[in-house]
Amino acid sequence: MSETATTCPYCGVGCGVLAEPRGPDLAPVRGDPDHPANEGRLCVKGASLHETLGHHGRLLQPRVRGRAVTWPEAINAVARGLAETRDRLGGEGLGFYLSGQLLTEDYYVANKLAKGFLGARHLDTNSRLCMSSAVAGYKRALGADAVPGCYEDLDHADLLVLSGANPAWNHPILYQRMKRAKQAQPGRRVVLIDPRRNASAELADLHLALAPGTDAILWNGLLTDLADRQGLDQGYIDAHCSGFAEALAAARTSAPDAARVARDCGLAEADVRQFYDWFRATPRTLSFYSQGINQSSSGTDKCNAIINCHLATGRVGKPGASPFSITGQPNAMGGREVGGLANQLAAHRDYDTPGALEEVAGFWQAADMAQAPGHKAVDLFEAVHRGEIQALWIMATNPLVSLPDSNRVRQALERCPLVIVSDCVEDSDTLALADIVLPACGWSEKDGTVTNSERCISRQRAWLPGAGEARPDWWIISQVAAAMGYRQAFDYTSPAAIFREHAALSALNNQGQRVFNIGGLAGVTDQQYEDLKPIQWPVLPGARIGRQRLFGDGRFVTPDGRGRLLPITPRGPEQSCTPGYPLRLNTGRLRDQWHTMTRTGRAPRLLQHRSEPFVAIHPQDLAAFNLKDGDLAWVHNALGRFLGRLKVTHEQRPGELFVPIHWTDQFSREAVVSRLLAAVTDPVSGQPESKQGAVTLSPFKARWQA
Ligand code: SF4
Repeated sequence: MSETATTCPYCGVGCGVLAEPRGPDLAPVRGDPDHPANEGRLCVKGASLHETLGHHGRLLQPRVRGRAVTWPEAINAVARGLAETRDRLGGEGLGFYLSGQLLTEDYYVANKLAKGFLGARHLDTNSRLCMSSAVAGYKRALGADAVPGCYEDLDHADLLVLSGANPAWNHPILYQRMKRAKQAQPGRRVVLIDPRRNASAELADLHLALAPGTDAILWNGLLTDLADRQGLDQGYIDAHCSGFAEALAAARTSAPDAARVARDCGLAEADVRQFYDWFRATPRTLSFYSQGINQSSSGTDKCNAIINCHLATGRVGKPGASPFSITGQPNAMGGREVGGLANQLAAHRDYDTPGALEEVAGFWQAADMAQAPGHKAVDLFEAVHRGEIQALWIMATNPLVSLPDSNRVRQALERCPLVIVSDCVEDSDTLALADIVLPACGWSEKDGTVTNSERCISRQRAWLPGAGEARPDWWIISQVAAAMGYRQAFDYTSPAAIFREHAALSALNNQGQRVFNIGGLAGVTDQQYEDLKPIQWPVLPGARIGRQRLFGDGRFVTPDGRGRLLPITPRGPEQSCTPGYPLRLNTGRLRDQWHTMTRTGRAPRLLQHRSEPFVAIHPQDLAAFNLKDGDLAWVHNALGRFLGRLKVTHEQRPGELFVPIHWTDQFSREAVVSRLLAAVTDPVSGQPESKQGAVTLSPFKARWQA
């Protein structure tokens, strides 16, 4: 057997993987030396992929209300259920909740069926939980959901600002690249902005452990400082930007100088000044930001506060100089390319894009086109709770664990007359509440494309047969569409055919107003699709080469072609601490686990890094609550409770706890941290404020423990 070149299904770095079925035991996977994202390297999660495979724990057969059925029976049950609900309630009664784990082709077909043929606008994705504030920030400032930079910028940046990010654990291959760049040129600097002294602090020359939620004050203060100390690129602002005066006025009001910023952010003034000095003096500055910025009730504003500083200094889309949001999931970007968010239509068209509805409806020959944006993730499940959505199809995700206020999500699913779940695992908290379960192919069995955080489209190739009766998601959706009477529009025989259609739609009537354009790939043959090498979009019609960076010429895709600075008025977290709940809760990921552990939880060595739920706590708080390091304790508030072992650390600020997001009811009875988080969202992006909760602690008196 020869190796198959595919991609890692975990984080948004999107590393290339070489895999090979060899004998009864699978050979260890290895990094693909030809993939530009990782050049042969893999982190421990990626390197353990072969240990997560096998049929144990896999969903092998369709089931309808607990009864094993054939595929035709399952497809008919889904089609009947959706049709019956639509007859009663129209498209409003249908909901779809997708995942950044799906391949682009799966996403495309689901989006087309829901929005084009069922009139169902309530289709959203778990990417809402990780990236949507970054997306909204880019769209407001640059006119498009388009990351301007690329990974190579990490090699060129003289100042790297890690804001609300911990790449050492969450994007390890990029972190290694950051390290190598710094070692190659020790004069390069790294600033970490994060309330926690996370693992990436090891690389930082300066750590700004700011008070949670005060990022916009810090970045507004930087804009003020740049203006007051000749740090602006006035020529660039005049030629290429709009909104500068209003943005600066808002920055001055909230952050007039470094002293005030230091006070409001809980930082030393000298440290704030140091950051501002380095930013001002370093043209090649890359601001790398992630969930610590996005997962906030003002996440979009925080993104724009960062982008404001880059626009004001002309540092967008140039080698080593850009704002650069980094994605959590492997195909969050691919999902957005097809329109997999409730506020999107298809191929980077929004509902309010003039002519877009008619264009897409015509291209699809749509039978029943959704006419307006639908509910975003949190609101979608609220609509299920209210009984407005009565048939919900969840694909490749576990919202019962990942959404905030998950006890309420459980109630919503319990009330919903029809819950359909497509997944590759047999048990998850969400599957336990499904009426119809559909076995989907897992990583190693799926064939299609994904797009990573630098807009690079890569093939994910099947190298093992589907387990049991598992089928690709695109096939399942197409079969349901055919059973509902739309066979002609969903007559796909391969992911290549879907990809060609998607690429053609991206190029349709696109004279540059939409940056996402892969028309150059619309004519790929099946063999060319099979052989497709990683390529960064856009790939314009007539071309077969992508583009590394965007907007470096100062021309944006806003209506006037200018980059927009936004006036940002900083807002604190919605979840305030009170005397009853005096501790601020922060959540995040572990180095060796992925999301709800449905895969990484199968590899023993990945559980060795952190083997049980824990609560990171500062020694002062430990003493204040009369607890000891290693004690078991409840973290709780009015919404729910979490049981974990206390882990004392000076990495935490006093008054703040950190709890990982990974544990589920499958692994630990009382350790779903999302039960403690209120369903508060950013008003622009709809992204939940998953980094902020208000809680207290109580001892857990175990009679015995092992
Ligand atoms: Fe997979 Fe991300 Fe690790 Fe790369 S860095 S191997 S994509 S988990």
